[in-house]
Amino acid sequence: MNNKYAVIGNPINHSKSPLIHRAFAEQEKIDIDYQRILADEDKFTQSVNEFSSHGGLGLNVTVPFKIVAYQQCQQLNEYARAAGAVNTISFDSKMGWLGANTDGIGLLTDLKNNQRLQLKNKNILILGAGGATRGILLPLLQEDPTRILIANRTVAKADALANAFSTAGNIDSCGFEEINTQAFDLIINATSASLSNEVPPVPSSVISTETICYDLAYSDKPTAFTRWSNKLNAKISTDGIGMLIEQAAESYNIWRGFRPDTKPVFKLLRPVN
Ligand code: NDP
Repeated sequence: MNNKYAVIGNPINHSKSPLIHRAFAEQEKIDIDYQRILADEDKFTQSVNEFSSHGGLGLNVTVPFKIVAYQQCQQLNEYARAAGAVNTISFDSKMGWLGANTDGIGLLTDLKNNQRLQLKNKNILILGAGGATRGILLPLLQEDPTRILIANRTVAKADALANAFSTAGNIDSCGFEEINTQAFDLIINATSASLSNEVPPVPSSVISTETICYDLAYSDKPTAFTRWSNKLNAKISTDGIGMLIEQAAESYNIWRGFRPDTKPVFKLLRPVN
């Protein structure tokens, strides 16, 4: 079998990517060999070269290698360039490693197609200013929202991101305690606070019954953020499983020119929904 793909990271055992991509391959009616690669932190390039020289066609890249992947790719698409990070690599015998970033498009597709939210003229609050926020800013701004406010614990990081993307749209930054008290149309939790069962210290007045609250973190149980926003009667409180599935679909499309239907994969990962 030569339809060889993989996800590379460290740790990697928890990754749902093999399950998702095998489901996509079933839809395309092809056999796929999609594995997890655990790479030592200092052996990313070596591991990728090994995979490619053994017939690997494409790689997903996850923590902690997205930035080194960006540095090593010979070609980058516009979202990888804006994100400063790569989560999808294709191999081309002439052009070398082709780097893409599908995280932002994955989020956008989930918001638009699955949550039925159009972002034009909307007020958006993003909590957190790490790699995930950098990755989603360009596709969000391209939808022409009224404003994006980035709030972060370390304010300087939020300021730096707002500056870097200021030419792409109306974007501001502040600390959590400086968030003005208006309700937002969309709040994206792009902090990793849910991973330690915490909610960033933002006033509850940012949520109205019309607010969509989206935690990029995902878990089989409700996250701290979705529990919090649910309690405050947000219109929708969801975690990032949809972003995970949609970014994978975008990667699959880049590799194979086949756009899978993601609905059956939602059912596979969240059977009770
Ligand atoms: P980074 O480590 O790059 O950034 C972490 C961010 O969280 C920083 O802004 C940090 O603030 C903030 N933070 C961490 N702990 C707390 C806390 N206790 N309270 C408030 N703020 C906190 O992580 P990423 O940007 O890569 O990832 C962020 C989240 O997005 C993770 O939960 C990750 O799992 C998720 N993610 C989901 C994806 C999906 O497909 N669904 C894809 C990519 C990411 P400071 O700058 O002050 O340190």
